[in-house]
Amino acid sequence: EVMIRLQNINKVYRTDTVETLAINNISLNIDKGEFLSIMGPSGCGKSTLLNIMGLLDNPTKGEVSIDKQDTTKLNDKKLAAFRNRKLGFIFQSYHLINDLKVLDNVELPLLYRNSTAKERRQLATEALEKVGLSNRMKHFPTQLSGGQKQRVAIARAIVGQPEIILADEPTGNLDSAMGNEIMEILLQLNERDGTTIVMVTHDENMARKTHRLVRLFDGSQVQ
Ligand code: ADP
Ligand code: ADP
Repeated sequence: EVMIRLQNINKVYRTDTVETLAINNISLNIDKGEFLSIMGPSGCGKSTLLNIMGLLDNPTKGEVSIDKQDTTKLNDKKLAAFRNRKLGFIFQSYHLINDLKVLDNVELPLLYRNSTAKERRQLATEALEKVGLSNRMKHFPTQLSGGQKQRVAIARAIVGQPEIILADEPTGNLDSAMGNEIMEILLQLNERDGTTIVMVTHDENMARKTHRLVRLFDGSQVQ
């Protein structure tokens, strides 16, 4: 069963003086429960493709369907709600809010839903337990190591129980030991919960642990 369907996607970035074809006619089906990695040299379009899959950016041409929903049919408000329910995001630089405690960071995605404070606390606590960080709930992000920050970011990504996780170089800022820990958590989410995961990485060792590798070059899929 297909979870993410990209059909003939083009992305052109235009400024006053230059036009960049960042994605050149990519079609890709990602199955429910698949763990896919995306590799390729800097500037080949990896982040752009991930942002299009994550409905953070619109393609210039082509169609994006998520769980059979043609996303071009959704207005902005519906799209935001759909994104919040279906997708969790993880970034290389964590994107945590430094003046919110760990628990409050993790609760953030739930603020856009109709849940009570008690429910939010419960779900956030469970998410932090899943990433092995329940002993850091009252800490601030600045008091954590890089690996711990990324685990908080994973907890925030999974707190709303999304079916899809999109990770943009989640281990890029970590040494190999911490990177491996993060990778283990992602593998567990995929295997135990059946979460569909798409991960951009520069690390062949990480990519090897996933189900399938897509390689990009100059905006085109070459493998
Ligand atoms: P990668 O993630 O593989 O490093 P990106 O998706 O970030 O590549 O970028 C793909 C291409 O699109 C690059 O040539 C980059 O310079 C260009 N690009 C990315 N974002 C923008 C933008 N906002 N405006 C103009 N060009 C962009
Ligand atoms: P690592 O060696 O894994 O990068 P650190 O040496 O940065 O980890 O941190 C070791 C432990 O100390 C971590 O569990 C972290 O939560 C805690 N810690 C680090 N910095 C602070 C701080 N400024 N305040 C409170 N706890 C901290």
